[in-house]
Amino acid sequence: MNKKLMALQKQMVDQKIDLVYQDNPNSVAYFTNFESNPHERIVAYVVTQDDHFLFVPSLEESEAVQQSNVDNVYSYTDDEDPWLIIQNEAEKLVDQVNLIAVDEGNLTVERYFNLQNYFNTDNFTNITSFIEQMRLVKTEDEIEKMLVAGKLADEALEIGRKLLKEGITEQEVAAEIDMEMKKRGVSEMSFSTLVLFGDHAASPHGNPGERKLKKNELVLFDLGVIIDGYASDVTRMVAFGEPNERANELYAIVRKAQEKAQEAVKPGIRAGTLDQIARKVIEDAGYGDYFTHRLGHGIGKTAHEFPSINEANDTILKEGMCFSIEPGIYIEDEIGIRLEDCVYVTKDACQSFTTTSKDLHIIS
Ligand code: MN
Ligand code: MN
Repeated sequence: MNKKLMALQKQMVDQKIDLVYQDNPNSVAYFTNFESNPHERIVAYVVTQDDHFLFVPSLEESEAVQQSNVDNVYSYTDDEDPWLIIQNEAEKLVDQVNLIAVDEGNLTVERYFNLQNYFNTDNFTNITSFIEQMRLVKTEDEIEKMLVAGKLADEALEIGRKLLKEGITEQEVAAEIDMEMKKRGVSEMSFSTLVLFGDHAASPHGNPGERKLKKNELVLFDLGVIIDGYASDVTRMVAFGEPNERANELYAIVRKAQEKAQEAVKPGIRAGTLDQIARKVIEDAGYGDYFTHRLGHGIGKTAHEFPSINEANDTILKEGMCFSIEPGIYIEDEIGIRLEDCVYVTKDACQSFTTTSKDLHIIS
């Protein structure tokens, strides 16, 4: 029984949607188990109220047949018109296509125009938020996969720590971590691995560069892997040499904010409340102006997805929701501290996907 498909089709009946067209590779994989990276070619999942098919480039057809849970897989070669095939196959399943639902957040304008022309309709509705809501609450199977991704991220942190020595560059450490993860079967990193030395960590999205590690600098690692179609994301700090008083003070504040928010997670709590809890710790310590971003973000098939854990988010937490908790303090030209774990909501609390100690790791 395909519960995800059933939920989608129920929504289609309720909303009188004749056809759902999706071509975001992550959503396609979510529904069909077929992981792909089609670039400019089309991998689409087409659903009617009582049927469905997968549409792929011919060079991916045999993989799609093997991997997916969809019986009908159709394909196109580079010299065929993909839209004509999609239209033909869809029209075999449904008499009249009046209303088409698309994932507006992920559909290109070009493809939208093609759907409009080939199905000869201007009636479209947006299914983005319904799919986001579905993907938000993870199944046990998804959580299992995310635990594997989390474990590898813990391992990547350990590998990173062991590489630290005077003179090594941020890029060298990041590249080595990525290579070691690929050797362990990781298809790709969740995002480009961050390794930032000293005051460079004051830039929350700084990029690793040629900067060389010096004695008595802090190092920020922010990384994650994608394995089996699911992502991890974790941030830890390392003191390369004895940390000074200031570093210890700020680290303790960020840690308290992170732990307090994590401890507050349980079903029934407002997502925005978690942001407020963490923010209050940092504000009370006098550094509110230096916590310059939201507390966290959803995670699943990609490292950053719905929902945004910010003060204004009224989403009520439910068992199976997964997101990051990552407060930070960033003081330009001086210091940047962040601590991050991703968690899943359990019956009465939450569990972290990563288990690396939250202590400031000191290499002396
Ligand atoms: Mn994150
Ligand atoms: Mn991160």
